Amino acid sequence: MSVLEMKNISKSFPGVRALQHVDFRLCEGEIHALMGENGAGKSTLIKVLTGVYEKDEGEIFLKGLNKAAVIRSPQDAQNLGISTVYQEITLCPNLSVAENMYIGRTKGMVTNWKKMYNDADKILRQLDIPAKARQQLSSCSIAVQQMVAIARAVDMDCKVLILDEPTSSLDENEVAKLFNLMRNLREKGVGIIFVTHFLDQVYEVCDKITVLRDGQLVGEYVIEDLPRVKLVAKMLGKELDDMSDIKSEAMEYKGDGADGVPVYEAQNLQSNAGIKPFDFYIKKGEVNGFTGLLGSGRSECVRAIFGADRVISGKSQMNGRKVKISKPIDAMKNGIAYLPEDRKVDGIIGDLSVRENIILALQVLKGFFRPFSKAQQYKFADEYIKLLEIKTASADTPIKSLSGGNQQKVILARWLLMNPEYLILDEPTRGIDVGTKVEIQKLVLKLASEGMSVTFISSETDEMLRTCSRMVVMRDRKVVGELTGSDLTQSKIMSTIAGGDK
Ligand code: ADP
Ligand code: MG
Repeated sequence: MSVLEMKNISKSFPGVRALQHVDFRLCEGEIHALMGENGAGKSTLIKVLTGVYEKDEGEIFLKGLNKAAVIRSPQDAQNLGISTVYQEITLCPNLSVAENMYIGRTKGMVTNWKKMYNDADKILRQLDIPAKARQQLSSCSIAVQQMVAIARAVDMDCKVLILDEPTSSLDENEVAKLFNLMRNLREKGVGIIFVTHFLDQVYEVCDKITVLRDGQLVGEYVIEDLPRVKLVAKMLGKELDDMSDIKSEAMEYKGDGADGVPVYEAQNLQSNAGIKPFDFYIKKGEVNGFTGLLGSGRSECVRAIFGADRVISGKSQMNGRKVKISKPIDAMKNGIAYLPEDRKVDGIIGDLSVRENIILALQVLKGFFRPFSKAQQYKFADEYIKLLEIKTASADTPIKSLSGGNQQKVILARWLLMNPEYLILDEPTRGIDVGTKVEIQKLVLKLASEGMSVTFISSETDEMLRTCSRMVVMRDRKVVGELTGSDLTQSKIMSTIAGGDK
């Protein structure tokens, strides 16, 4: 018996079709995972359901209503029994647990405190939540606070409970308690939509999975019918059958052998961006990479290496010498360059010319008070415009008037000009044409053959297989494996990401 049916839902933002004709069905008493890589459309679907966004098209049906539901605001959704608990807890820490459960719901009546505390305690007991009604909320752990938020949602007579990444800040113990609460609610017939990045959690607690990709419905599956490796394939949009024979084309790494001192090495490195501590190394002239689903922590690892996020523990070494990298400039001074994933935010400076964008990193290293001469700047810029075949009218053209692929080459030029010992490229080929992609891949291999060490991240595993001789595999924000040699195949990568073939 379904409690909720969303039919043919479409929603666009300027330039993005976030949802295209998506159907979603939720049954009574089930825990239903909504899965997809970052940007697949999960949050948009939830926001359409909860009245945060107005849909462009489609209908929403709820059990007990004989026509399509009208949901124009979160309040409408609430009134229809659809409750959401967001990752950031939106309760009042200074009030008691009970007050938090009932706040804003007394509808002007004089509050009967005794009754409120009794009712609250009853619900807390029923749901097995380790909190007391009279306790101040701030004295509870984050996990318990989240449970109180859920209790509040449930007590409002909810039929559909949405949990959007509720577990990201919880430890294992707390996750287990949250899952108990979810199972408890399932017993009571609540339909739960569970959005998470964590594959393990999906298989632990969910009954069904709906997969979205690029704003489209891939399918709805009963958990037993969708083994992990297939789920990963669906999220990535690969068919398992035509994957097995794509093998690494990258040259086997024949650098200075296993005993050579790594160019860069990290031990127990951890940043404040929510990744588990990891070990990592790269040798001279080696190309390696981080692979995993979007959101698995690939970018966070390289950001930690470069000091782009705050490093909270671990050691790093360059050529066997201990180095302290807590800011990007420290990394740059040690010969590390990093091409970030989000060029619009971290990369291009739109109003500056191609030349100014190219010399930026080197100028920062040299110090802004010792500017390069104009002649020197043109020499640098022209050299790289030629080397990378950047299509621009001149070195003085504003970078924003270039195509995406050419902008990308400008940023690449910026880092190459530094002549780094170690170059990190995070999605260097995203959104650029196929021809330029291949050029960049070739360039990476050429730089490595000349002795540069390169870490390459790409969402397209084929592309990584063409460049990397070693791949570090991530799942759920931790490093879970490393593949080299004959293990560098699509299917092996996929099953390592998934955590087994099952
Ligand atoms: P998910 O939650 O699966 O990571 P989202 O639903 O957040 O994905 O995003 C789907 C797509 O819609 C992405 O391309 C995202 O950039 C875009 N998008 C989401 N919200 C907005 C918004 N408010 N304005 C513009 N684009 C948006
Ligand atoms: Mg989201």
